[in-house]
Amino acid sequence: MNNKEWLRQLSNLTGLPYYEEHRIFGDKNGALIGTRDGYIVALGLGKAEGGHAGVKMLLRYAKTQDPKLIKQTLDPAKGKFKQVTTEATTANLVRIYSLGKPDAASVAEPLPGLLAAMKTCASPIDGKCEECGRDEPQVVLLNDLPSRYCPSCQVQLTQKLDAAATEYENLETNLPLGLLYGAGAALLGSIAWGGVAYLLHRIFLWGAILIGLFVAKALVMGIGKVTWTARGMIGVLTAASVAFGDAIFYALTVMSDDHVPFMAALKAVLANFWKIETDSDSGVLSIVFGLIGAVWVMYSTRKPAFKARFVTLDTASTPLSGPGTK
Ligand SMILES: [Zn+2]
Repeated sequence: MNNKEWLRQLSNLTGLPYYEEHRIFGDKNGALIGTRDGYIVALGLGKAEGGHAGVKMLLRYAKTQDPKLIKQTLDPAKGKFKQVTTEATTANLVRIYSLGKPDAASVAEPLPGLLAAMKTCASPIDGKCEECGRDEPQVVLLNDLPSRYCPSCQVQLTQKLDAAATEYENLETNLPLGLLYGAGAALLGSIAWGGVAYLLHRIFLWGAILIGLFVAKALVMGIGKVTWTARGMIGVLTAASVAFGDAIFYALTVMSDDHVPFMAALKAVLANFWKIETDSDSGVLSIVFGLIGAVWVMYSTRKPAFKARFVTLDTASTPLSGPGTK
């Protein structure tokens, strides 16, 4: 059975309307989105963690202070759904499959039990705007999450996020402070790297990633905002930090082997640095690892997303008939 037929069948079994165009779980065949007993329910196919194929279910309720309680209450009712994760307003359930899609009936089966469990621990959204509590008959998608948001709260949220985005764009960047923090962190990283390598007689490549993280954190803290200049500086400083750490390590080794003062040893090492570094087993590799750390941080400090995208469910696709038909 193809996915669309399967979803249609599931729609008939659960009474939840099927929307081919709303890919809220990432699957191109769309999803079922509707309400049951005042709760918002969505079902569909999608990728589970680790890339497994899965059936996904979303249950949404009025904001709770105790999502853990909801998880505990839903767990015994989850049937073949594997994981239940709960947040303040949403429970996510995933059922992983490897060969064929599970039988639609077996997917629909735990739903009544889940709803019954839900009634004991979470209030329904019950046709009310989740922000202001006014009556709101329509379910809309807020960044792909089925929600109830009245028109005025939609406008407010959009404006709020637009303002946050503008504010972020207009943030002052303090390049000198960022450079100062970043360089300070890089120097500390070098000393730690060289010292640890000397004391333990080995180089920990993973340490280079830590230095990348450390440099990036410090630099971003100083600069106040992630820009491409900041990203570039994180990369350069991390590589320099690890390279200088290597130099400190070589210099400490020369110092104790040849009984010369540290600064003299460091001078000699720096004069021939590139040759020593490329001759060493892990020299260049350590710089590469430092860059991996830096790239990771550059990615994790990417610009936050400020956007509220509201999409109405297509009113033309009327709910299908309830259980028992077909
Ligand atoms: Zn509202």
